[in-house]
Amino acid sequence: MMKHVNALIVAGMITLPLSSLPCRAGAAEFGAANPFFAPSALPFHAPPFDRIKDEDYQPAIEAGMAEQLAEIERIADDSAAPTFVNTFIAMERSGRLLDRALASFRGVSQADTNPALQSTKSALAPKLAAHQDSIHLNKKLFERIAAVYKQRTTLKLDPESLRLLEVTYDEFVHAGANLSEEDQAQLKKLNEEASTLSSDFSTRLLEATKNGAYSTPDRAALAGLSDAQLSAAAQAAQSRKAEGYLIPLQNTTQQPSLASLSVRATREALFQNSWGRAERGDANDTRAIIARLAQLRAQRAKLLGYPSHAAWKLEDQMAKTPQAALGFMDALVPVATAKAGREAADIQAVIDAQKGAFALQPWDWNFYAEQVRKAKYDLNDAEIKPYFELNNVLENGVFYAATQLYGIHFTERKDIPVYQPDVRVFEVIDVDGRPLALFYCDYFKRDNKNGGAWMSAFVGPSKLMGDIAVVYNVANLPKPAAGEPALISFDDVITMFHEFGHALHGMFADTRYPTLSGTTPQRDFVEFPSQFNEHWALYPAVFNHYARHYKTGALMPDALVEKIKKAKNFGEGYALTELVAAAELDMQWHVLPASAPLQDPDVFEKQALEKTHLAIPEVPPRYRSSYFSHIWDSGYSAGYYAYLWTQMLADDGYQWFDDHGGLSRANGDRFRKMVLSRGNTEELGKLYETWRGKPPTIDAMMKYRDLRQ
Ligand SMILES: [Zn+2]
Repeated sequence: MMKHVNALIVAGMITLPLSSLPCRAGAAEFGAANPFFAPSALPFHAPPFDRIKDEDYQPAIEAGMAEQLAEIERIADDSAAPTFVNTFIAMERSGRLLDRALASFRGVSQADTNPALQSTKSALAPKLAAHQDSIHLNKKLFERIAAVYKQRTTLKLDPESLRLLEVTYDEFVHAGANLSEEDQAQLKKLNEEASTLSSDFSTRLLEATKNGAYSTPDRAALAGLSDAQLSAAAQAAQSRKAEGYLIPLQNTTQQPSLASLSVRATREALFQNSWGRAERGDANDTRAIIARLAQLRAQRAKLLGYPSHAAWKLEDQMAKTPQAALGFMDALVPVATAKAGREAADIQAVIDAQKGAFALQPWDWNFYAEQVRKAKYDLNDAEIKPYFELNNVLENGVFYAATQLYGIHFTERKDIPVYQPDVRVFEVIDVDGRPLALFYCDYFKRDNKNGGAWMSAFVGPSKLMGDIAVVYNVANLPKPAAGEPALISFDDVITMFHEFGHALHGMFADTRYPTLSGTTPQRDFVEFPSQFNEHWALYPAVFNHYARHYKTGALMPDALVEKIKKAKNFGEGYALTELVAAAELDMQWHVLPASAPLQDPDVFEKQALEKTHLAIPEVPPRYRSSYFSHIWDSGYSAGYYAYLWTQMLADDGYQWFDDHGGLSRANGDRFRKMVLSRGNTEELGKLYETWRGKPPTIDAMMKYRDLRQ
């Protein structure tokens, strides 16, 4: 689902509450009035939101960093010989105060922010980055880690402990802990330059995107927009003190208004503004920056001992190598582009029938696709929504599916303090009657909430620390007027199932070490349980249990269900093709070796798309290199393929259920035991294959997404 892809990137759907080095509490250096000072006395150590004030976060987080650094120093300076316990487990135990304060802060600052929290966030960002570096590049600490690592085969550790040892060691090596002092100095220089370039990229792109807005004094040019869209455009112009109307750009290549604008010249102009936004040859042109950044990343990879940036980045991912990710995409490209080609033919037929006398261009796609969609499916939201009342979807759909699969139950807890009155809290009760987790949901849209939907945790579960999961889902569903039912769209239903899939992954975590716990796994695995869980939304036994008219309780009529099922995959060809094109661009930039010369981005991009059979003018990549911020200024370099990879896992995984009788406790229990409870305690490819009985393929993805001929 595109929406989720977007949401994940924009909002950071998974924010890890635990730093990669979770740590210990203690220290009485700051006031008892600060509620983070002591572990929460509430059930499940839930955050005491009734006592936490905005001004408590920063001092608690700063004290938490100082405390963890002191703990790390003590480990590094220990006079006893390094052992697994006095080094690795001691590190696992460090930083408790930091984790506690940071988890609450991240939750609230994303879902219910205000200017004070925003300024705390800016103040903390560089400090938190420096904090991680000072641990990763602590020479004495790494010597101890390496010493224990060398003896690992003789230590007779249990598998999870051995995994912790390897993951921690790899993480330090990955960050450059193994380099000579001279090389580390060089690495720091490259890191600094990279971070400056990324930040310049981000500044320029922001300005370029702002300047790329389409504006016109002529209302007729905007024919097709609704009154609400027109007044938004007039307001946008006004707020920039401009005449007429203005349509701001969003970060993707395609723009939402392109579906409505009926004047072709306007569509073309808006599209060209989007496509060329960062390539105008002015002060906001990003091409020189990305060319240098790609080169610098390749040089850094070489310094760290890898053939390319992608090889360095993928080492700890499920795919492991760029070749695996590239091979996956190679298999997907012909399928996706063939489907997009069939969609293009449908659209061209509409253009021709309307005597358009032109060949389909990217700026025409959404406008005519919308007409095809209406003609083919005639799916009306007003007809559907009365069958999807939010609380009913939650309790009789999302929770119901989890009860059928995993035997867990839910009871609302009104006694747990929340950060905002719309938030609801449920205790999750395990099969054996014991408390499993606390689950918060915060579904309604607010102006002070980040866009999209996401899951995270206030408390990450671990047996070592005796912690049970406290997890939450956040979304932006429309809030009804007081006394009215919350009727939502089918897309919103899918969002709820998706986020709850993450929540299950978090709450089922049955691991000893915080570092290996819950949703910590890699980018190319973490969206598997969530997208997998989406499948149950349309599963008949689940669907018929929740899709009932809010007034009459009547089941949704079959004809309507059929329409939903058919419309679900509409536009999948375009969506997949633009995604895989972006993912290929990302990967092609990042498999460049250090020896490659500085690239001309336009030439490089053209060749990369041609080489991967994705040079399709009417289906441009979702992001062009020059405004692909995920890969240049956030953590997704050489990682964009992960969205598609996890779709493959979700569908391939669901196929297993399909082959084994679908929704049942036996199937659910097996999945919980072998996958959802395991966190990162085993290499993820192996973990998946052991459960699935084979490596994943795109076959099921083709079937469920209607990609076959
Ligand atoms: Zn997700």
